Amino acid sequence: MLDTLLPLNAPNTFAGNPIDRGERFRNDPDKIAEFMESPAAQFVVFHRLKPFLTSGDIAHVQWLSRAAVKDQISLGATWVFLGLLNDAPHFAVDISRLRDPENNGPLAGLGVFLDMRASAGQLDPQEAGILAQGKALIDWHNRHQFCAVCGHETEMQQAGAARHCTNERCKAQHFPRTDPVAIMLAIHEDKCLLGRQSMFPPKMFSALAGFLEPGETFEDCVRREVWEEAGIEVGEVRYHSNQPWPFPASLMIGCHAEALTTEIDTSSDELEEAQWFDKDFVKAALSGKRSDELWMPPPFAIAHQLIRSWALS
Ligand SMILES: [Zn+2]
Repeated sequence: MLDTLLPLNAPNTFAGNPIDRGERFRNDPDKIAEFMESPAAQFVVFHRLKPFLTSGDIAHVQWLSRAAVKDQISLGATWVFLGLLNDAPHFAVDISRLRDPENNGPLAGLGVFLDMRASAGQLDPQEAGILAQGKALIDWHNRHQFCAVCGHETEMQQAGAARHCTNERCKAQHFPRTDPVAIMLAIHEDKCLLGRQSMFPPKMFSALAGFLEPGETFEDCVRREVWEEAGIEVGEVRYHSNQPWPFPASLMIGCHAEALTTEIDTSSDELEEAQWFDKDFVKAALSGKRSDELWMPPPFAIAHQLIRSWALS
């Protein structure tokens, strides 16, 4: 059954965005307007951060033409320039202000609005990164309507790549942020350390993780988090891979970490439970056996890839 999973060197879900972000065009309003009117332009629509997708086993973006989104844009829907793909301009449009868009108007019958986290395993791998970009950007604009420096209203600039403060005495510029998170699999001999939070489904264990703090490297963060959550000391930290995680705006930095101690202490209450698991047991769990005893994060999660690459090495 392991053969049906992603190959070991496959990019993580939401990684590998093929778009040329077109930074050179962002400060050229005439060019952006020309892109908007282009018959080749492609629009992905979001409603309350859910993208408009085709239904089916694999959910593809239901790309729309300018004509199909014209009414929504004239009614005040927010749009951002994502970039160019195959020479075609691509945009994301937020129609959250419109009422019941799926059942009324030009979108009726064309697709469905799907929650990206719930449908992450179904997304076309090429398109998942574009959706991560669009969702994170729209969400950032929604959350940054006011200036963090002076409290005045802000305004979108650079076709969605920035906002600026409308207070003449402030004029602060604000740029979309990404929050780094270290996610780590601590290893000792032929065992790995997995933890569970109280919100997890029964029997589910995963890699430990935590946000980077100011002035911290990701290696420092790995050592701090494993110590805080499980009382385990970590030595060498090896980078594995990373994953955009637009819930709302994280970058998961995946690592393998060498544990120097083995006695678990979860008294900080960050985890409900942490345990060492044998490699053979983890292999069986990954292949769907022993699911009554251990349930793994799904393949679209970087935690799955961290665990899998260790278990199969
Ligand atoms: Zn300001």
